[in-house]
Amino acid sequence: MNEEDSEKISGLLKGIGYERTKIKEESDIIIFNTCCVRENAEQKVYGHLGALKALKRKKPNLIIVVTGCMMQQDGMPDKVMKKFPHIDIIAGSYNSYKLPEYIERVKTEGNSIIEVWNKEKGIVEGLPVDRMSDVKAFVTIMYGCNNFCSYCIVPYVRGRERSREPENIINEIKDLVSKGYKEITLLGQNVNSYGKGLEPEINFAGLLRRVNKIEGLERIRFMTSHPKDVSDELISAMAECEKVCEHGHFALQSGSSRILEKMNRKYTREQYLELVKKLRMAMPNIAITTDIIIGFPGETEEDFEETLSIVKEVEFDSAFTFIYSQREGTPAAKHEEQVPENIKHERFNRLVEAVNEILAKKNKEYEGKIVEVLVEGPSKNDETKLMGRTRTSKLVNFQGSPDIVGKLVKAKITKAQSFSLIGEII
Ligand code: SAH
Ligand code: SF4
Repeated sequence: MNEEDSEKISGLLKGIGYERTKIKEESDIIIFNTCCVRENAEQKVYGHLGALKALKRKKPNLIIVVTGCMMQQDGMPDKVMKKFPHIDIIAGSYNSYKLPEYIERVKTEGNSIIEVWNKEKGIVEGLPVDRMSDVKAFVTIMYGCNNFCSYCIVPYVRGRERSREPENIINEIKDLVSKGYKEITLLGQNVNSYGKGLEPEINFAGLLRRVNKIEGLERIRFMTSHPKDVSDELISAMAECEKVCEHGHFALQSGSSRILEKMNRKYTREQYLELVKKLRMAMPNIAITTDIIIGFPGETEEDFEETLSIVKEVEFDSAFTFIYSQREGTPAAKHEEQVPENIKHERFNRLVEAVNEILAKKNKEYEGKIVEVLVEGPSKNDETKLMGRTRTSKLVNFQGSPDIVGKLVKAKITKAQSFSLIGEII
């Protein structure tokens, strides 16, 4: 979601004549689109801001901007400005679409600006988007979150759930398809809550069916969907809509029902396993990926072992693993039984090892198979090769001519690597 927000900010700046550059020293404006979900992302921002002091001294006209949800935390904008007075603009995530106006003001008036709206003011439609890919695109369908998981800061900094009108979503996707996009990922903190409060009534399964009818679109993905809200209707829609890829990201967070309850996740280990069973019955080839938090307050060795065992039982296709980070203002942060750092790290390493072992095994199963790949562009590590993804979201590297970028090709997997596959176009 943060990436999609950055694409919008970049689109807005393009609209007033700026261009993207990767060279810090050459830029006229440097923007940090921050995230406060975990503390280490915040620490990185501080590091970068400190390092820019010297550049700002050399280039006084450089405009430094900090925006994103980190700025939505109480007292944060003043604290950051005090620590880094060379910042020119601080804006919150609800009003980052006003950046062109703030930039003009700084250029004409010269004073720094702190403007952070403390509440969402509806949905702003029609913002220009400077997309990082010409092949696949993110399309936000809803903003905010009402779930209040006890560790999570998102509901406090992103506001309550609000859904975009289906027509706006469909029109945006049709426009993308007319520009050659083949794949879209529908985004929301909990896409299953899509549609609440909209008239006429629509839910996420209904939206998927409508998006599936868009001619020329090849692939649909979505992220993320809360396990407690995955209905049978949604599973049927996923299975029946041929454009919906055989991949689902369902954040587990913990394998211990005791911890899940403390997290306020509203499902148990057994219910999660039941969900996996249903998904696999409806879509035998579905790849299931997840998010896991290690070291939630009060997590015992037994709780952790339950997480390890569910990871092995489900055999996730991949997992984003996080060490619990205390977020001020969330109920879990006040918990007295915080897990010591060394134990968190030790459990984290054991978890990553288990996840990677399964990933290697799952990747190996692809060897010799023929898969459909959407060609995205040059490989990250070897520009002479191309890369793309299977419908199950596996990364495939292969030789090919650049004019197949944006096309769906068939590839035979010749070798599985730890985190990707090597293939040959057939
Ligand atoms: N709405 C999404 C999650 C968005 S945040 C969902 O529920 O599926 C992305 C991930 O960050 C979460 O799934 C969780 O695993 C992790 N996360 C959130 N708060 C965290 C915290 N305080 N410490 C560590 N990880 C956290
Ligand atoms: Fe955070 Fe839970 Fe909302 Fe996801 S569903 S954004 S983890 S509060």
